[in-house]
Amino acid sequence: MLKGKTALVTGSTSGIGLGIAKALAAQGANIVLNGFGDVEGPKAEVAALGVKVGYHGADMSKPAEIEAMMQYAAQTFGRTDILVNNAGIQHVAPVEDFPPEKWDAILAINLSSAFHASRLAIPAMKSAGWGRIINVASVHGLVASAQKSAYVAAKHGLVGLTKVTALELATTGVTCNAICPGWVLTPLVQKQVDAKAAALGISNEEAKKQLLAEKEPSLQFTTPEELGQLAVFFCSDAGKNVRGVAWNMDGGWAAQ
Ligand code: NAD
Repeated sequence: MLKGKTALVTGSTSGIGLGIAKALAAQGANIVLNGFGDVEGPKAEVAALGVKVGYHGADMSKPAEIEAMMQYAAQTFGRTDILVNNAGIQHVAPVEDFPPEKWDAILAINLSSAFHASRLAIPAMKSAGWGRIINVASVHGLVASAQKSAYVAAKHGLVGLTKVTALELATTGVTCNAICPGWVLTPLVQKQVDAKAAALGISNEEAKKQLLAEKEPSLQFTTPEELGQLAVFFCSDAGKNVRGVAWNMDGGWAAQ
């Protein structure tokens, strides 16, 4: 379905980003990976799906590096047809104790990076008459939880950015939508599981159960594979008039 297209997925060396990259690759899209940590493993996983794979190590908190990444994608693959703004970090603390540098980093990586990558990707998408921008927000783009001021603010902001981008592109072949996952068991959430287990003196398994029971009525984690399939739908022809939605895959979290 996506043969000949190129998808750039930020923060795709791990977790949800890698799941989405693999789902798009399985549909034939060439992939530009981005993110920290092991690169060769994720590259091999995507290449095994029979597509071309590039990588750029831009730090998503740095606009100049985002610009270099977008240029790399254009030079290597012609253009970015599908942009998935996924890179994100978390920090948990009450507002009065929240380190200002963590606030700045979360706003930069979880929100501003999507603005920068989008503004740089849109002109070529418009000229081509086709494009997909998918912002990985969160159920925390729709509702709040205590101790997550920067994350909730950034994700609500990302949902707002999604709507504005979609409106501005509404008469073009370029769509913009957000995906809002509930709990997904990635390294980002494993840290919160570990913290809960340590704080309460309980096992990792018990901490996972408690985490789910607090928020997610299905008592099940959403998986990167499921989120990948939602991204594939947004890229499909059937998704061409889906514009500006914030689609939660959250086991009923936001329905409460
Ligand atoms: P993860 O920690 O597994 O992956 C994060 C990715 O972002 C990694 O590839 C990491 O290297 C990259 N990254 C981090 N800082 C970066 C930076 N400055 N520049 C470039 N890359 C950077 O986390 P995940 O759970 O897969 O999260 C992916 C996205 O999904 C995030 O935006 C997160 O907020 C969102 N999300 C996650 C969950 C969840 O439960 N895991 C729920 C809702 C939303």
